[in-house]
Amino acid sequence: MITPLEKWIIKDAKLTKDYRKTLDAYQLINIEKTIKYVKDNSLFYKNQLQDISGNISSLKDFSEIPFTYSKDISEDPYRFLCMPEKFVKRIVTLNTSGTTGANKRIFFTENDLNMTVDFFAAGFKAMAGKNDRVLIMMPGLTYGSVGDIIKKSLDKLNVVNFVVGVMEDSYETARFIKYNNINSIVALPMQILYLSRVHKDIFKSVEKLMLSADYVPEVLIQELSAKNCSVFTHYGMTETSYGCAVECKALNGYHYRENQLYLEVVNPLTGEVLEDGNWGEIVVTTFKREAMPLIRYRTGDWGAFKTQTCKCGTFLKTLERSRGRINNVINACNTKINTREFDELLLKFESVMDYKVSEENDNLKTTLYLHENCCLDNIKATLNSFLQNKCKGKFKFTLVPDDKKNIVFVHNTMIKRVPTSRT
Ligand SMILES: [Zn+2]
Repeated sequence: MITPLEKWIIKDAKLTKDYRKTLDAYQLINIEKTIKYVKDNSLFYKNQLQDISGNISSLKDFSEIPFTYSKDISEDPYRFLCMPEKFVKRIVTLNTSGTTGANKRIFFTENDLNMTVDFFAAGFKAMAGKNDRVLIMMPGLTYGSVGDIIKKSLDKLNVVNFVVGVMEDSYETARFIKYNNINSIVALPMQILYLSRVHKDIFKSVEKLMLSADYVPEVLIQELSAKNCSVFTHYGMTETSYGCAVECKALNGYHYRENQLYLEVVNPLTGEVLEDGNWGEIVVTTFKREAMPLIRYRTGDWGAFKTQTCKCGTFLKTLERSRGRINNVINACNTKINTREFDELLLKFESVMDYKVSEENDNLKTTLYLHENCCLDNIKATLNSFLQNKCKGKFKFTLVPDDKKNIVFVHNTMIKRVPTSRT
């Protein structure tokens, strides 16, 4: 089945005949429109793009335009705001690392949020139908929160859904799933890891999952797929109005909202735009956003476009599943090890619910949050051979098992997990 995003994008962008060609042209026109709009309305871009004419005749021209960085937003988010604040319907404040204490703020109008409702509704068509009962384990109490937007998108499809927020008591969640005949769940990956390992019986009736984050560990996808669960993953961030790209039924990479965003993959060091097939940093340009459009925004996330078309047969581009944050690394023996590698290594042990790694004086301190105090010797041997391979024995490690009975710790560590390191 072709990704349902295709039909939605053709209709929304009014594409004709040669869809790929007309979509490319549509994106170029919207890039131009966005540049004009932000130059007229945003103090930041008025300054940043003062030497840019606004006539972008090709994507090559566009690649000459300066990037927008996360720090630009945290320094003064209001310089990005394109309209009086009274039209803003939601503001999301994101804690940013660093010592300045500055917070990143992202602004949305009602139309900005509704565009995401439409995208989610189109994306969910690949996963949910009228016979499904979907549990949304995302915060959803307030207007414009991610859970609220997911709910609206499923309501549009007439799919029964329940917003319960981020899980705090897994027994209560397990009971809810059972008594409400839930067969599909939208959640953060580490919460599903916890739920599926502690309440194995529940997963006999859960058939479909939508896991959303910057990165979903492959070991988790494999483990859940082995339980006959179809695992869809979604990649997005607040800067893209939550939604960005989602998997089709082929479950082998995402298609993105090409009618509302333009994505590039660039070399993280040089900023040069990379050919499809190469891994680099995902860069986002938004279309039609009213409150706070972004031009060539550096996401800090690894990404790559596939060179082959998706098995679903769409003309839309396909992104590889995210590999997480570029700067989520531990420096050990002059080697940068991405936390993703620890995820794949440690989370394959079913007793591990989460972990924390930090580097202190040539020693890798690994705190393991365990459900059952087992397999420590195996974990030790696995970590040992991994570090031997990376550091040729020059780096020590300490394992600290932490047998936590509740899941509050998972709550705090699963989003954009950043390692603690002295560097
Ligand atoms: Zn596809």
